[in-house]
Amino acid sequence: MAKRDYYEVLGVSKDASKDEIKKAYRKLSKKYHPDINKDEGSDALFKEVSEAYETLSDENKRAQYDRFGHEGMNQQFGGGGFSGGGGFGGFEDIFSSFFGGGGRMDPNAPRKGDDLQYTMTINFDEAVFGVTKTITIKKEVQCDVCDGSGAKPGTSKSTCKMCSGVGRVAVEQNTPFGRIQTERTCPTCSGTGEEIESPCDKCKGAGTVTKDVQIEVTVPEGVDNGQQIRLQGKGEPGINGGPAGDLYIVFRVRPDTRFTRDADDIHYELPISFAQAALGDEVKVPTMSSEVVLTIPAGTQSGKRFRLKEKGVKNVHGYGYGDQFVTVKVVTPTKLTERETELFRQLAEHGGEDITEQNENFFDKTKRFFKGD
Ligand SMILES: [Zn+2]
Ligand SMILES: [Zn+2]
Repeated sequence: MAKRDYYEVLGVSKDASKDEIKKAYRKLSKKYHPDINKDEGSDALFKEVSEAYETLSDENKRAQYDRFGHEGMNQQFGGGGFSGGGGFGGFEDIFSSFFGGGGRMDPNAPRKGDDLQYTMTINFDEAVFGVTKTITIKKEVQCDVCDGSGAKPGTSKSTCKMCSGVGRVAVEQNTPFGRIQTERTCPTCSGTGEEIESPCDKCKGAGTVTKDVQIEVTVPEGVDNGQQIRLQGKGEPGINGGPAGDLYIVFRVRPDTRFTRDADDIHYELPISFAQAALGDEVKVPTMSSEVVLTIPAGTQSGKRFRLKEKGVKNVHGYGYGDQFVTVKVVTPTKLTERETELFRQLAEHGGEDITEQNENFFDKTKRFFKGD
């Protein structure tokens, strides 16, 4: 039985949020839990739901699955995928001779083109607000001289002489089971059964050529570093009339000098002076969209955090806005004028502090030490 799509299993859309996935999983795992549901088949459904959730709840596994489907999961995470060519050469061939070639890939069957990936670097504010950009990618496109046939215009393909058009050739192989007569894909025609006698001059018989292609990409508002979008059908062309592959755009977001980002929240550090911290003040604070006035209450400590509600990033899936957090940092002056020094000294005396002079040099200190002050 074909494995069901994980999103379908959980009944959520491809762009479902973590929360939606979790909710769907909770609901379904309760419904099918073997302790609760005694119906026949609920056990298998419970396992299916758990497996889907295990992948979709993990960001990395989900990205992998989105890109490569169940196949990708097997390759990457070692789950039972059957790969040919073990220790004794050509599993595939042995199996095809035992089972009459069932499940062998037909080289003339339509196949989906390869997926492509493009990493797009965007500025911080472009990620926050979204933007439309045109990218240039190199990809295989159908050759316009031979219309993808690979044969020189006016000529046609002929039956492969090596395999007489069958696409398979017989080979004898030594295996642990003895000498076995097997078949393998014809090396001359790669299994198509046809041969190109006069290859097209432009594509040399490949049927495709590499071309710079311009593609307009709409960067969604609120996209974050590492997230990706899929442009269906913008990958490599399909084979034997199959659908084109997809193009995945992975976003890299450049850091900003003022703001940092944590999911949909924006963080900003606001430097204020001793006086502002002690007396309180009204300070203009930049946000992604505008400037707001923040009231610093008297007696504010360094590290105090203020929240500007919904001044963060619009959620890429449309779940409202994040917040902006403003962390106050009280800046200690490093250079004081004489007047400032005097004022700080007075302030200290007023508060009953006894502050030791720091501006004497080494010789003064030594002198003081020997005089026994
Ligand atoms: Zn061509
Ligand atoms: Zn052949």
